[in-house]
Amino acid sequence: MIKNKKGIIFGIANDHSIAWGIAKKLSENGAELILTYQNESLLKRVKPLAEKLNNSFLIECDLDKEESLKKCFEIIEDKFQKIDFVIHAVAFSDKSELNGRYISTSKENFIKTLNISCFSFTKIAKLSSKILNEEGSLLTLTFYGSNKVIPNYNVMGIAKAALETSVKYLSVDLGNKKIRVNAISASPMRTLSGAAITNSREIFNYTKKNSALNRNVELNEIGNSALYLVSDLSKAITGEIHYVDCGFNIIGIPK
Ligand code: NAD
Repeated sequence: MIKNKKGIIFGIANDHSIAWGIAKKLSENGAELILTYQNESLLKRVKPLAEKLNNSFLIECDLDKEESLKKCFEIIEDKFQKIDFVIHAVAFSDKSELNGRYISTSKENFIKTLNISCFSFTKIAKLSSKILNEEGSLLTLTFYGSNKVIPNYNVMGIAKAALETSVKYLSVDLGNKKIRVNAISASPMRTLSGAAITNSREIFNYTKKNSALNRNVELNEIGNSALYLVSDLSKAITGEIHYVDCGFNIIGIPK
C-alpha cells in the first residue's frame, strides 16, 4: 500500500511506543523510514529497533529545541529531498501534574506541555510542507481526554484538545497542496507516557471493560490504522479525528 513511499516518524522511545507499532507496520508494507530520537540516552533503545527494519535512517531531534528541529529538517531535505508522510507520536508533561486537580497546573508546565504536545505538530507541519510530495499525509496521536474529563489527565487533555483543533486548521491550510492532516485517537496503551498518568492502570482497565469490544487496542492495530491514513486508500480523508479505541468513545452509560 505504501511501497516506495518515504516518511518521518517522531516519537519512538522503546518497543512499547505507539510510534514503534506504526514504524513496524509501515516498514513491513514497503515504506522507507526516517526515525527521530529525542536524545542520546534514548538512542540506545531506538538504534536496535531501527536495525530491525528494512530501510531506516536515524536522526536526533528534540522538539523542545528550535535549532534541533531545524537541523533535523535540513538533514532530511539534504539526504532525501522529498518525503510522503510524517507521523507525530509525541507528548510531554511534568508527571507530578498528571495527578490530582487540573486547577493546580503551573504556568511553566502548561506552556511546556502545549509546546511539545501540540505546537510541535504545527511547526512540523510547516517545515515538512516544503518537502512533502503532493498528496502527502500528516498524522498525529491523540486521546479521548481531549473532550471528556479523565482523572489525572489534566493539562494533557487541554493540549490534546488544542492538537485536535490544529488538525482541522492545518488540513485547510495544506489542502491546496493536497496534503492531508489527520489524528488517531487511541485507547489507553501501556507505554512510558501512558504510565506517567496517575492511576493509568485503572483507566486502562475501565476502558477495557466498558468499550463496545470489551478490550483495548493493540499496537499493531494502531499500526494498521496509520497505514490506512498515510496510504492512498484514505485519499479523501482529512481533518479527521479517527477513533481507534474498540468503540469506547461511543458509550454513554456503560452496561
Ligand atoms: P511513548 O512514551 O512511548 O512516546 C512518547 C514519545 O514522545 C517518546 O518517544 C519521547 O521521546 C517523545 N518526546 C517527548 N518529549 C519530546 C521532545 N522534547 N522532543 C522529541 N520527542 C519527545 O508513549 P506513547 O504512548 O507511544 O505516546 C505517543 C503518542 O500517543 C503521544 O502523543 C500520546 O499522548 C499518544 N497517546 C497515547 C496513549 C496511551 O495511552 N499511551 C493513548 C492515546 C494517545
